[in-house]
Amino acid sequence: MASVTFKNVCKKFGEFVAVNNFNLEIRDREFLVLLGPSGCGKTTTMRMVAGLEEATSGDIFIDADRINGVLPKYRDVAMVFQSYALYPHLTVEDNIGYPLKIRKVEPAERKRRIAEVARRVELDTMLSRLPRELSGGQRQRVALARAIVRTPRVFLMDEPLSNLDAKLRTQMRAELKHLQHELQVTTIYVTHDQIEAMTLAHRVAVMNKGVIEQLGTPREIYNDPRTLFVAGFIGSPPMNLIPGEVKEGIFNSAGFRVGGFARANISRAVLGVRPEDVHAALAEDDDVNLVAPIYSVELTGENTLVSLRLAGQLVTLRADKNFSGQIDQEIGIKVARDRVFLFNGETQARVD
Ligand code: ATP
Repeated sequence: MASVTFKNVCKKFGEFVAVNNFNLEIRDREFLVLLGPSGCGKTTTMRMVAGLEEATSGDIFIDADRINGVLPKYRDVAMVFQSYALYPHLTVEDNIGYPLKIRKVEPAERKRRIAEVARRVELDTMLSRLPRELSGGQRQRVALARAIVRTPRVFLMDEPLSNLDAKLRTQMRAELKHLQHELQVTTIYVTHDQIEAMTLAHRVAVMNKGVIEQLGTPREIYNDPRTLFVAGFIGSPPMNLIPGEVKEGIFNSAGFRVGGFARANISRAVLGVRPEDVHAALAEDDDVNLVAPIYSVELTGENTLVSLRLAGQLVTLRADKNFSGQIDQEIGIKVARDRVFLFNGETQARVD
């Protein structure tokens, strides 16, 4: 087991900077998720740990060992790829056992360990099949079994669930969570799926344009976003981000007013509030933050998403599943004042 440390790591492809002065220490046994939109540099960061990409500058360590330039096979990491990368001509058994074979583990021991991990991922009845005779979810489990058949210092997982349908993904997520608890191996996991990040991670590094925007536990990232980007990226449906201005401590956007901010004046402000922190009220209540007609009502099953229109954009609130308001009916909304964030629209940083 091991820690992984990045010190001032940069990766350039020609003039393009994919990873920019990256600093991060992943702790021993930690499950660290790199989360961010397509192209933000997550995969490149992970591939530098695997040795599939070399850093242009900076240092990468596994424990105290500097691994820059070390051949992939000497790094003692196991990687699960989005595409599974199984050997098509090898059976499930031989695919899973491949890392043991190249390490010259003797056949009897190899068989024992293959049987053990195959049971764990419920593939024990499929050992003689070829990859093309398996479903996507089963192939994914073969890839996972191949990674865990030996105990590497670090697991690297690159969007391992992204090719699965929604139901299987939820199921595999729970399996990964359980495996993580059992195996206790340092893991770097790349995804653009914020639910995966929230459910699996000990800590999440939210990446944008080659840098870490915020590093923290899922709870910290959700409850205390430090930038507009992080605020908008985490949460489903996403946080309402409403542009407006702050004058004498009162935010205003086309009549949507929220008071009590410490910063007296901001000409370009953005108010952020999650749909679950906006509540429907009677239009005539005197402390409502906004009165507007309902624009849409969507029942999701467990609750109702209600949207109002405000200066060309929608403000969404999560109401009870028994919400009875209708489109065009005028309602009031109240925001939970202690759950409101204020951002500077120019710097994108949180100011309140
Ligand atoms: P995705 O979720 O789409 O895989 P990502 O965050 O993992 O995205 P990377 O694959 O790390 O992103 O790529 C980061 C940036 O570097 C992208 O703009 C990509 O086009 C660029 N890039 C990656 N590999 C190469 C390469 N071999 N040559 C040139 N540019 C590259």
